[in-house]
Amino acid sequence: MKHRIFRTSKINEFRLWGLVLTLAGMGMMVLGTAGILMWGLQGRAFAGVFMVLGMIVLLGSVAIYFWAGMLSTSAVVLQCPECGRQTKMLGKTDRCMFCRTILTLDPDKAAEPSLEDNEVQASQLEESK
Ligand SMILES: [Zn+2]
Repeated sequence: MKHRIFRTSKINEFRLWGLVLTLAGMGMMVLGTAGILMWGLQGRAFAGVFMVLGMIVLLGSVAIYFWAGMLSTSAVVLQCPECGRQTKMLGKTDRCMFCRTILTLDPDKAAEPSLEDNEVQASQLEESK
């Protein structure tokens, strides 16, 4: 139950990581700039390293957003049976973006509450690729 927050739909998870990386990248660039203010000319090397790292992290976040966008175009749009709203799912099993109900396209797993086990889900998704 502790990891409840992270049990969200895959598209939402991608967006979350994209946001985290964006903030981390900006934080690193701010830190680099702070280096110049604190140490003057000597802080320049420090600032340069953090600027480059920040840029890499920001580019990473852009890549994740781009990837999430690509994935969401191939996602299946369906109406959630629990909350009635339109949601997107990736792969054969995913969670509703709104109420986090597990949705599946695989009739074999439809009635199995053991889908709560994320590791089982992950290995099955790997196999289906
Ligand atoms: Zn729902």
